[in-house]
Amino acid sequence: MSLMLYEEALKLVLENTQRLSTEKVFLWQAIGRVLAEDVCSDSDKPPFDNSAMDGYAVRWEDIQETPARLKVIGELSAGGENTLKLEPKTAIKIFTGAPVPEGADTVVPVEYTRQEGDYVLIEGSFKRGANIRLRGAELRKDEVVLKRGSLIRGYEVGLMASVNKVFVEVYRRPKVAVVSTGDELKDLGEPIEKPSQIRSSNHHTIYARALESGCEVANLGIVKDEPQAIRELLQKVEEYDIFITTGGVSAGEKDYVHMLVKELGFELIFHKLRIKPAKPVLFARKGRSLLFGLPGNPVSCVMAFDLLVKPAIRKMQGFEKCEPIILKAELVRDFSRRNAERREFVRAKFWQEGGKLLCDYSPKTESHMLTSYVDANCYMVVYEGVHELKAGQEVDIVPFD
Ligand code: AMP
Ligand code: MG
Repeated sequence: MSLMLYEEALKLVLENTQRLSTEKVFLWQAIGRVLAEDVCSDSDKPPFDNSAMDGYAVRWEDIQETPARLKVIGELSAGGENTLKLEPKTAIKIFTGAPVPEGADTVVPVEYTRQEGDYVLIEGSFKRGANIRLRGAELRKDEVVLKRGSLIRGYEVGLMASVNKVFVEVYRRPKVAVVSTGDELKDLGEPIEKPSQIRSSNHHTIYARALESGCEVANLGIVKDEPQAIRELLQKVEEYDIFITTGGVSAGEKDYVHMLVKELGFELIFHKLRIKPAKPVLFARKGRSLLFGLPGNPVSCVMAFDLLVKPAIRKMQGFEKCEPIILKAELVRDFSRRNAERREFVRAKFWQEGGKLLCDYSPKTESHMLTSYVDANCYMVVYEGVHELKAGQEVDIVPFD
């Protein structure tokens, strides 16, 4: 039986994932999240004509003969009252952000002026309207500033603050649970009592990746390879948007997740893909809740998260584009493999040099070697049927995200 291709699996993941509901949050809480409403400007921006420079507000006609000598009749600062009116042959000292007084149409920067007693001497030629930021030049009242579907970063937080958008409608954070299964596993700080026991890294890796991806994450720790323990665990799936188990999905006798998924009435969408590593990955669904059974090998585990779980998270979060990005880079070293049956995602590093992207891969290609992620920033994709890649050849890479 031929195994399902990655594209097909990704499509199924996205088809079975629904956007989450939305909620109103204080604008700081919106960072990293997707807008679920259009945000409009509360006023014209700038709200009034104001000076872009420190200098003198003048009538353009009055500075056509240079040097011009104008009487200084007052001063306007940012936040100050604007009660002054400019009469012919006069100037008003003005600071950046201060309202432009009635009668003035140009601001001369202070660098082109010299004050002599009550007068200012102006040298230089300026366009009419120079150094004045006009009311509404950036935005009109009620104009859409940010569209529904935009990602909120620091810039957008600032922009929302500038239009007094205090609470904003965004997609809810996915609620994710992670649990590692395995009789051999010991958690942080627990004594290793037998040589066969190992330190569990997977539930920490996935906890951290889900947190980095903007989820609310519950760490459910470690569970033994016992059907009853795993049954009780899987009964909690519907309390979360995404439930992630690690380990116990291969073909071993103690791999209970697959068996219990069927027993507990989940819709099993796929189990085993034509990918390397992470071949045994399992995806099932109960109502709107998704279950990902990730393989126990640490690389398989996090790779399956990046390539299959992360897209589901993005879809729930309201992103339009959910699939991993593919870039092209030039390989700097030959790569070869004996078995070309599956699509392989090799930990690699890309960088820019001489106007193009170059790529090298980690010499540690095995699925238990988490150290292959050290210095890596992408996966290099080796497609089905490809035995060899040559230095200088263009390859597909998937940057980490
Ligand atoms: P499994 O998928 O349960 O058959 O596990 C495959 C391999 O990954 C075995 O060598 C396990 O010991 C190892 N492994 C399983 N779970 C974890 C974990 N949480 N952390 C680190 N290694 C694990
Ligand atoms: Mg196991």
